[in-house]
Amino acid sequence: MKQHNVMVVGAGVAGMKASLLLAQAGVKVHLIERESLIGGQTIKFEEVYPNMECATCMVAPIQQDVLQNEDIEVSLLSTLKKVEEKSDSYEVEIEKKARYVSLENCIGCNACFDPCPVELDNTFEENLSKKKAISVPCPGALPNVPTIDPANCLRLNGKKKDCKACQEACMFDAVDFSQKDEKVKIDVGAIIVTTGFDMFDVKPLDEYGYGKYPNVYTAMEFERLYAQNGPTEGKLVLRDDKPIKSIGIIHCIGRKELGYCSGVCCMYSAKIAQFLKHKAPDAKIHEFYRDLCIPGKSYQNFYESTRKKGVNFIRFNEIHVGKSNGNIEITCSEENGQDQKIKADMVILSPALIPGKDTETLAKILGVGLDTHGFFATQNQQLSPVITEKKGIFIAGCAEGPKDIPDSIAQAEAAVGKVLLHLQ
Ligand SMILES: Cc1cc2nc3c(=O)[nH]c(=O)nc-3n(C[C@H](O)[C@H](O)[C@H](O)COP(=O)(O)OP(=O)(O)OC[C@H]3O[C@@H](n4cnc5c(N)ncnc54)[C@H](O)[C@@H]3O)c2cc1C
Ligand code: SF4
Ligand code: SF4
Repeated sequence: MKQHNVMVVGAGVAGMKASLLLAQAGVKVHLIERESLIGGQTIKFEEVYPNMECATCMVAPIQQDVLQNEDIEVSLLSTLKKVEEKSDSYEVEIEKKARYVSLENCIGCNACFDPCPVELDNTFEENLSKKKAISVPCPGALPNVPTIDPANCLRLNGKKKDCKACQEACMFDAVDFSQKDEKVKIDVGAIIVTTGFDMFDVKPLDEYGYGKYPNVYTAMEFERLYAQNGPTEGKLVLRDDKPIKSIGIIHCIGRKELGYCSGVCCMYSAKIAQFLKHKAPDAKIHEFYRDLCIPGKSYQNFYESTRKKGVNFIRFNEIHVGKSNGNIEITCSEENGQDQKIKADMVILSPALIPGKDTETLAKILGVGLDTHGFFATQNQQLSPVITEKKGIFIAGCAEGPKDIPDSIAQAEAAVGKVLLHLQ
């Protein structure tokens, strides 16, 4: 008999929206998320283009609906380990890492953080702030329950086996060192993969000065710097505390190396320029682009409004970030062959979107293919953009290729349509 429950892997906007729609159609959903919270990359943004909506106001109700829906079982800190094809279903083995904090008992008061002696870089905050070995990635994380990092917790890694400072600080008996990693087997009728994307690594490219000059940031670092719940509570403070009078935003980082346009970087770069106009209204803002990709019925207006706000758009062939008299200087060769030099106090790099780091492993486990760029391949990109070569396994959102939020959600909902047909 066909299984009528479905596994969704990855709880970003695509995975959350697919899960809610499946639940609405009466299907039991197992939503598997690798991290300790749900929401994906979108929860890192303060506002989203093209309407500059507050991202938290848009995503938090979806996260709440997912967490409260009785037909959606959310497994956090979980990844797929094995998938076995049966005649009409898949037997999936999941590894669920221990959280060491009870989701039922914890009220999210954060009293356990301060007493912890271990300080670590906060990767969710792009390493712009520190966290403790017991922590939540950011204020407002959902679920708002901390996780203990077992590799760095002194008790769990054996360096100080009697440490229990966090447990003693908790009034709600929520810290639970007895939790163990678990392996769980679930039979499902279909799987939707919505594992999203990662960002192209700018570090190896010398010409952009990332890692060399402290005031060169990536777009994701900037998103966190701008966010009210970010490491500076939304204050635009440079790593060296200098005042910001001139800013360069460089598009298309990685496009040459990867051989594709991500289709979202021009729009998110224009969004960053609009943020900067708000936070540093007197600063000169220069956007350096190779090509402009501004598709969609409302995006052209967004770009025009960014231009009208006084943002200077410069088309370049080659670009280099260097230093002159102690200041950052951007040198670009323009189309007309002339070189232009612009001083900048802050540089923001807009890298391409690349396949998530687990994509290859996951594709092997699922027995599905990858496209030439390393994203999950579909049967036919034009005609069947969510169906893989394996019946019952579907792809949606940025796991299939770079795209914005509306397109990720549209693809997720299309995948649900195909799943419902498949389960009939
Ligand atoms: C700097 C920047 C700014 C942007 N701004 C905007 C904007 O303003 N407006 C807009 O429309 N779009 C914007 N985008 C695009 C937007 O981020 C994406 O469209 C959106 O995040 C795609 O959602 P998703 O669910 O497909 O993937 P993601 O948001 O990446 O979510 C994927 C989820 O899957 C989880 N996952 C990954 N691997 C596994 C695994 N092996 N097992 C279990 N779970 C896993 C991840 O932890 C994550 O929670 C921006 C992108 C960038 C880079
Ligand atoms: S574990 Fe305890 S102290 Fe820590 S946030 Fe939860 S309830 Fe508060
Ligand atoms: S046991 Fe000690 S080191 Fe581990 S999280 Fe708690 S306070 Fe930190």
